[in-house]
Amino acid sequence: MIDSHCHLADDAFVKDLRDVIERAQTAGLTRALCILAAENPIEAERARELARLWPALRFGIGLHPHHSGQFGGRESEVGSLVRAAIGAIPEVRSLGEIGLDYHYDFAPRNVQQEVFRVQIRLARELDLPVIIHTREAEDDTLDILQEETGGSLRGVMHCFTGTRRLAEEALGLGMHISFAGIVTFPKGANVREVAAMVPADRILWETDSPYLAPTPHRGKRNEPAWVVRVAEELAELRGVQLEDLRRQTSANFDALFRP
Ligand SMILES: [Zn+2]
Repeated sequence: MIDSHCHLADDAFVKDLRDVIERAQTAGLTRALCILAAENPIEAERARELARLWPALRFGIGLHPHHSGQFGGRESEVGSLVRAAIGAIPEVRSLGEIGLDYHYDFAPRNVQQEVFRVQIRLARELDLPVIIHTREAEDDTLDILQEETGGSLRGVMHCFTGTRRLAEEALGLGMHISFAGIVTFPKGANVREVAAMVPADRILWETDSPYLAPTPHRGKRNEPAWVVRVAEELAELRGVQLEDLRRQTSANFDALFRP
């Protein structure tokens, strides 16, 4: 079992990181992809410790739209910042998370867009898959993806909460779609509907921990061990055996991230 998106370098795990990793392994997780914030040297430092504690761990690193505001007027510098961050960690296998967030609007939208574009270009240059975060920004996300990729992109729409149209367009670009604990929420009907229709060879699951704990843990700090709840829910709503979907999502993870 793999958790394809978690934030183990987050402050939330500092106190009991060893226990969290142990519980993940006891739950059957062999691997995970840990997302790092490129602008935060503390997370890069923790990545070293994480790689030592869990050698099968792989990383994604990028500048999240929430933190792109500080680069307003100097968006082009993001490329060299992220390039250096990637170069400093040998286990990096993806660029992200990157994207647009118009729900919180923590950074001006034009800055978010330019920072997103710069990082897509870098990912293509380095031949790395991208991890995309998009919230209430579907049209601009799709426009930028079309303009910057020429119609195909190796990557994943992570923690999918969008419309069916967004899913179909992303699949059309060749991307994967990943689902988190929202599929277990009572209000997750729209997300469940999309999760049921994604082709088997494009689906992934994740926790996005420490955020979005699945039921029955909702409201608590999430952790990679609980990806099992997401997996169970996805297997049930797709009408397949958990073991078959586990094998499929692991193969999908390998095809996308080449760990
Ligand atoms: Zn995340």
